[in-house]
Amino acid sequence: MDCLFCKIIADEIPSTKVYEDDKVLAFKDINPMAPVHILIIPKVHIEGANALDSDNVGVVSDIMLTARRIAEELGLSEGWRLVTNVGEHGGQTVKHLHFHLLGGKKLNTELA
Ligand code: 5GP
Ligand code: ZN
Repeated sequence: MDCLFCKIIADEIPSTKVYEDDKVLAFKDINPMAPVHILIIPKVHIEGANALDSDNVGVVSDIMLTARRIAEELGLSEGWRLVTNVGEHGGQTVKHLHFHLLGGKKLNTELA
């Protein structure tokens, strides 16, 4: 499948991995917007949040828990943010569900 993040999962494209298990991969964003900017993705290809349903939504719990654990490991005790962009208006450029874990500074409060 011609999907950038599936290629990262398959190690066809290199990435700086932060965490991996059978369901989830976390790796550093190539163009960081904050001192900590990690992408957390399901290993199964899901196009985005619009493609979630009752059969595949469980992976969002795994991603949320992974985010919480990474934030703790990286010492983001003062706070962090988890964001998913959906579709063109949401600013989604890669069509494989991903969550941005951002932190390491006081983040902008303006979300849109
Ligand atoms: P989106 O804009 O779809 O929400 O987020 C896609 C993210 O993927 C962007 O923040 C972008 O910097 C990141 N990205 C795009 N290509 C690559 C890549 O080849 N490697 C890594 N590590 N991140 C990438
Ligand atoms: Zn994919």
